[in-house]
Amino acid sequence: MADKPSFRLIPHSNPVPDAERAQLIADPGFGKIFTDHMVVIRWSVGTGWHDAEIRAREPFQLDPASAVLHYAQEIFEGMKAYRTGDGRVTLFRPEQNARRFNESAHRMAMPEIPEEMFLEAIEKLVALDKAWIPAGEGSLYLRPFMFANDVFLGVRPASEYIFCAIASPVGAYFKGGAKPIKVWVSQDYSRAARGGTGAAKCGGNYAGSLLPQAEAIQRGCDQVVFLDAAEHRWVEELGGMNIFFVMDDGSLITPPLGTILPGITRDSVITLARDNGLVVREENYGFDQWQADAASGRLREVFACGTAAVIAAIGKVESKGSEFMVANGETGAVTEKLRDGLVRLQRGESNDGHGWLRTIPLD
Ligand SMILES: *Cc1c(COP(=O)(O)O)cnc(C)c1O
Repeated sequence: MADKPSFRLIPHSNPVPDAERAQLIADPGFGKIFTDHMVVIRWSVGTGWHDAEIRAREPFQLDPASAVLHYAQEIFEGMKAYRTGDGRVTLFRPEQNARRFNESAHRMAMPEIPEEMFLEAIEKLVALDKAWIPAGEGSLYLRPFMFANDVFLGVRPASEYIFCAIASPVGAYFKGGAKPIKVWVSQDYSRAARGGTGAAKCGGNYAGSLLPQAEAIQRGCDQVVFLDAAEHRWVEELGGMNIFFVMDDGSLITPPLGTILPGITRDSVITLARDNGLVVREENYGFDQWQADAASGRLREVFACGTAAVIAAIGKVESKGSEFMVANGETGAVTEKLRDGLVRLQRGESNDGHGWLRTIPLD
């Protein structure tokens, strides 16, 4: 059964009691609370994927020489399960997460996981822990990840890996409605270079973004924006979100794929915008142009997007030696419309013309 294990279910012997869980998910915040179970699947050279289990969430025992602790061979995904108005539980384009997970795996010299196994892992976890999905604006954030687990300090792709998926109930990312954020454009640090790992969802990219992100916070900003590594000129993306510019003719500009992370929200926004008759151009946009267009009024709106926050307006921009507002600094009409359209679609409140929602079978 190598490479196609069936999942062994070992239910939690002592799950969180109903009343306590209800209290926890009433105001969950982001990424602090976890459900009762986790998925674990092992991979080793020769055997392939094996020992697929869903069991009580618990710490791993890692040898101090475990490869991931030294060379950061690790990838992850981020996705959400939603409770729809008609009582279903859905995922949004999860096969895209499965596909991207394998692209990240390929870049990091890790084994790929069959897409059906990835999806089954996620669906089984959500179905088992469905009571943890918050009502209203909340959702269940899912975090599948994989890491190298060889006990070996030599530098080479590992021969053993662990795939794991955990789930975390989350509230609306930005409390009290979506206030426009302020971004810090880093001119000292870059996130990714051509030929690097920018398009892979790997932990290492995040480790490298923490110092510039801390700098952003220190400057009173919410998020860092990265420019390209070669010229420090072209806008790439935020630490964990893609970026769009809305021009005065109603068209949208977003940086092309390559060194940026190919966001599923980014792809969905492009499609929804085009559905709405808007022109979307995937092309390089310079920070100098951003400043000039904000000053001239040609630039009407800027927003960031990703699974966690969905769509967040960017109202203010700061960098070394400059600070400016985008239009009046408020959330613009196009941003609002796209966010509303995407959120309604994700929650099953509008027609899913693209077949993006996947309903999870709940025994
Ligand atoms: C995950 C991620 C995004 C957003 O991707 P989504 O699929 O839309 O959630 C954007 N940038 C980076 C660096 C990311 O890691």
